[in-house]
Amino acid sequence: MKTAAVNVAKELQVPTSQIHIWIDILSIPQKHAGMKAMAVDSLYAFAQCADIMVIIVPDCWHEDTGVKADALSYSERVWTRVEQLAHCSQHGVASMFIQTAETFRQLPDGWMETVCTVFDGTMTCCRKKHPNGCRCDKQTLVIPLLALYHNIYKQNLSGYPSAAAKFIWDLIQKKGKDRMFPPNIQIARDTGITEVHELFGDTINRIEKIVVGENTDFVWSPTVSFIKPVHSISCEL
Ligand SMILES: [Zn+2]
Repeated sequence: MKTAAVNVAKELQVPTSQIHIWIDILSIPQKHAGMKAMAVDSLYAFAQCADIMVIIVPDCWHEDTGVKADALSYSERVWTRVEQLAHCSQHGVASMFIQTAETFRQLPDGWMETVCTVFDGTMTCCRKKHPNGCRCDKQTLVIPLLALYHNIYKQNLSGYPSAAAKFIWDLIQKKGKDRMFPPNIQIARDTGITEVHELFGDTINRIEKIVVGENTDFVWSPTVSFIKPVHSISCEL
């Protein structure tokens, strides 16, 4: 991480003393469920606020699972996918880097296309099959990702999206809204039962209706008639 900080300073052309670092996991309370939930709801904001995002992946092995932790495993987790999507939606891919033991480089081509389908990723709760009826952590990501979609959709509808918003919008069109924001999820239990729960439901459509309603100045609605009055009053001349 120290090497990454030095490389970021070079990239920004500022001394390391002027850099503020937000570290995933260490900067999120892990023991208090309420504090953790608030921090998770803010992931979107944290990732968006950062000028530069660095994926620090020296070759190492997960202490609990023994599985190798590297750039590939980083790209496969739901939590890391959502923070990448949030940062990319604000800044694009040019400010995203990978730091390994040997190199500091920008994301390889096609990286975001793989990680943008957040819910295809893996989660600890799913691996443990949600013991004791606990909820799936994927359900906690609905509100932050609705905020992201609202922002992207609104910019696209305006006709003047930022380059970053256009990039994410194109990914959504390519992958499909239902895959990026699944209406339902399957939650496998340690009892062997698999339950189907609503995830986004119809909220993506509802977000679009809200945004269109906010932007009636530049969106033509075929349901509005300028010939037939909405209501009329009678008066004597
Ligand atoms: Zn889960």
